[in-house]
Amino acid sequence: MSENADAGAKGASDGAVPAAWEPVIGLEIHVQLATATKMFCGCELSFGERPNTHTCAVCLGLPGSLPVANARAVHFGLMIGLALGSELAPRSIFHRKNYFYPDLPKGYQISQYEEPLCRGGRLGDVRIHRVHLEEDAAKLIHVGASGRIHGSDASVVDFNRGGTPLAEIVTEPDLRSPEQCSEWLKLLRTTLRQLGVSDVNMEEGSLRCDANVSVRPAGARELGTKAELKNMNSFRYLERGIRAEIARQVEVLQRGGEVVQETLHYDPASDRLTSLRSKEEAHDYRYFPEPDLIPVAIDERMLARARAELPELPAARAERFQRQLGLSRESAQLLAFRAELGDYLEAALAAGAEPEPPPQALANWVSGELAGRLDEGADPASSRVTAAALAALVGLVSAKRVSVGAARQVLDKLVTEGGEDPAAIIEREGLAALDGGEELAAVVAAALDANADAAERVRAGNEKAIGPIIGTVMRETKGRADGGEVRRLVREQLGI
Ligand code: ADP
Ligand code: MG
Ligand code: ZN
Repeated sequence: MSENADAGAKGASDGAVPAAWEPVIGLEIHVQLATATKMFCGCELSFGERPNTHTCAVCLGLPGSLPVANARAVHFGLMIGLALGSELAPRSIFHRKNYFYPDLPKGYQISQYEEPLCRGGRLGDVRIHRVHLEEDAAKLIHVGASGRIHGSDASVVDFNRGGTPLAEIVTEPDLRSPEQCSEWLKLLRTTLRQLGVSDVNMEEGSLRCDANVSVRPAGARELGTKAELKNMNSFRYLERGIRAEIARQVEVLQRGGEVVQETLHYDPASDRLTSLRSKEEAHDYRYFPEPDLIPVAIDERMLARARAELPELPAARAERFQRQLGLSRESAQLLAFRAELGDYLEAALAAGAEPEPPPQALANWVSGELAGRLDEGADPASSRVTAAALAALVGLVSAKRVSVGAARQVLDKLVTEGGEDPAAIIEREGLAALDGGEELAAVVAAALDANADAAERVRAGNEKAIGPIIGTVMRETKGRADGGEVRRLVREQLGI
């Protein structure tokens, strides 16, 4: 029994994958390259301009026009290949990929086929299969009844996008969960952004992702039959679409059915998958070498120029954070893969705060306390909290001149009001740490009186009962006391 998605489609995407099954996912990513002009003509790239204002004989596919490959796009392709550790083909060629669709005026797309620009490579845990260059299709817009022509629903075509340079990055099937896919895609996005080769915006379509999904019995070596989810345009939908497809395939397999190889569309609104075409209906593209273009021959000078423009990439930065700053692996990756957090950390470390904050503590405050107080994904450099102010605050915390609780209050103030000098806020608000002096000892003694029952239980060996006592001290001191110090004093005064 073999079933396609329409037959089995339902919104069964919740719940974990049963342990007996292992999902396998490979991604195909299209990246619009941020060149000045199109892939094979001199038209400027266009973003939101009036439709059909950036076109010429070449990108409209008029007879007799001749394409010329964009050197800058090749340069960007080489930078991507170098960043991913790919093998760069000394000579790669363009092919015609033939199919008929209104967004493709020539009747074929110029792409690369057997001899792509880059082969192999790796990013993080995922192996790269290949990277090749091609041109984007035009944009087909379904205007429906509002654009009726001769009484029928209408679709219109904007050829401005047609011919935009694309790099297609294809992974090996090395991904194992929806979450891993979106995490990895974020790493790829940061990497491409650091390279400066693309705007990498999923919502605007400069980064687009197809996901190939299959499921196999846990422990099996052979891959299951895959289905391809087309054009997911956000990280959230990518995760949800893959999750829904895994659930669908597991359900089919558990019933003793077979997954059909097909291309699917995921509709996030209904959480449904619908079949676009099955394997039998798959296009035969009749690839053949593009006779109007010479092969792309890479020479030493082009390679040297691409190498020279490579910045430090997220994976290398994470390693440096571990090695140079002694950050934990998780922390190093968190900050390096979100470049704006890494930049902020480095600015804070360079601020020369006295007392000096330890890098790990500073990293925790950047990614936890500060990022947690800002909008999701916000760049802390655009917040009111300067890197110098955060460094100074964390320095005071580490020197125990201010408690963690009080420092959080200071950070609240910095986030809403800004300001350069946390020490001044601490002074003004009376938030300086109560050290182990008499003042704190007196507050602890009063807290023990007020919580006599709890004190008795702590003395009898119930460690947990200490909570309300410490809570009272913290309340009385408005969080200025150090938790460890309070705990020590409680035990000391109870004689244990
Ligand atoms: P096709 O010829 O159908 O395009 P490819 O072998 O070129 O398939 O692979 C396309 C993408 O699908 C790659 O990202 C690859 O890793 C992934 N892929 C291939 N086979 C599977 C599978 N069985 N399960 C999941 N992903 C797969
Ligand atoms: Mg393919
Ligand atoms: Zn053009």
